Amino acid sequence: MSVTVHIPTPLRPYVGGSDTVLVGEGTVGEILDRLAAEHRNLRPHLFQDNGRLRGFVTVFVNSRNIRELDQEATVAAAGDEISIVPSIAGGATAAATALPQLSHQEILRYSRHLILPQVGPEGQRRLKAARVVLIGAGGLGSPAALYLAAAGVGTIGLVDFDTVDETNLQRQIVHSTSGVGTSKLASAEGRLKDLNPHVTIETFDARLTSENALEVLREYDVVVDGTDNFPTRYLVNDACVLLDTPYVYGSIYRFEGQVSVFAAQNGPCYRCLFREPPPPGLVPSCAEGGVLGVLPGIIGSMQALETIKIILGRESTLVGRLILFDALSFTLRELKLRKDPECPVCGKDPSIRELIDYEAFCGVGAEPVYQGPEISAKQLAQEIRENPDILVIDVREPHEWEICRLERATLIPLSELPDRLNQLDGHKEIVTHCHHGVRSMFALQLLNAAGFAKVRSLRGGIDAWSSEVDPSVPRY
Ligand SMILES: [Zn+2]
Repeated sequence: MSVTVHIPTPLRPYVGGSDTVLVGEGTVGEILDRLAAEHRNLRPHLFQDNGRLRGFVTVFVNSRNIRELDQEATVAAAGDEISIVPSIAGGATAAATALPQLSHQEILRYSRHLILPQVGPEGQRRLKAARVVLIGAGGLGSPAALYLAAAGVGTIGLVDFDTVDETNLQRQIVHSTSGVGTSKLASAEGRLKDLNPHVTIETFDARLTSENALEVLREYDVVVDGTDNFPTRYLVNDACVLLDTPYVYGSIYRFEGQVSVFAAQNGPCYRCLFREPPPPGLVPSCAEGGVLGVLPGIIGSMQALETIKIILGRESTLVGRLILFDALSFTLRELKLRKDPECPVCGKDPSIRELIDYEAFCGVGAEPVYQGPEISAKQLAQEIRENPDILVIDVREPHEWEICRLERATLIPLSELPDRLNQLDGHKEIVTHCHHGVRSMFALQLLNAAGFAKVRSLRGGIDAWSSEVDPSVPRY
């Protein structure tokens, strides 16, 4: 077995186009020296005249930066992987000479870019050479992917494992009605290729995990975050810090959005800002909290903008700045972020040196979800027919009650339930219900604690009622 050296795109022309090269064991210095001896044109891109590695070339052995190890004396043994990672934000002279040419068709297509002095032919060639990966082809990933493809980013990776659902279409504009039920990857790939056939789309039909993240992300120059959950967000952040890859962050909730660029050289990372995730269940997802469809359109477009600026080597990116956008009041706020020297992943003495178990870190599955007796929608329908006294309590919010309701239900929003217990008859059978069956389980717990014994929660909520019992109740 030998050592595998991963060659970054800009340097591939100097090793016969290969993305990996197998070499014998040795120190990183020896191995790169041998590589440069074998491929003579590679040497000036890796080494200065004095034989030292160039400053903008970062080398990893497996997932560790050699800066944290023994620098060029770090030993790579059989089976190890060496990654050569050139910095791409500014001054990437190695990349400049290796940039691909533009065809006449591309020159015509990108003419409005080419006449911008800040982009120009070289900038457009940088975009063509660039490799960007989007985590999630959803609300944020949709506009980001569309603009990046339209702008001529040469290779776009998409990581997703979901299918297109009708409720996605209000905001996930890369998908269409005809794609409902198909995979998001296929749907997005078709749309992006139609938009710009000059762009290569690479798809990863998988959930990003600690096992595959470094392998997938190391192939790209910029990572765009379109995730909607904390385990994946911390995973992406930590992987980007370990790989030294800029991480374009975006997140949305109802009418508020955030954007920043993390893990860039000398910039802070997501953990410098948020050391730990909130406890599970505290921050609702879009499915529970709702989101105005145009908001991810705006935030995802900002992410595309920052990605393009990073590729072009512009200095005024959102590194060290967090933008907070409130769509209702139309206000933008900017917070200055500083790298935290005590940060567990990008600080002076990091405690996280490889990817961890992010589900456990974020408490997913650790805290048992409230458990209690449940009743199916079909069973409830039967019991309602047989027992006119059964008490059905809808613990959703009044605006959800406006969308649809069960005929027999009484509305008592979860937040009001503790103050309205005296309105309930403790001798009756009680069934709590909500949208999907999570809040109703909280309500059950609350009622049990207050001494109500005969309580069950409707499994799957009013949504299950609609699909299993009464389709005239609209789903949302
Ligand atoms: Zn950090």
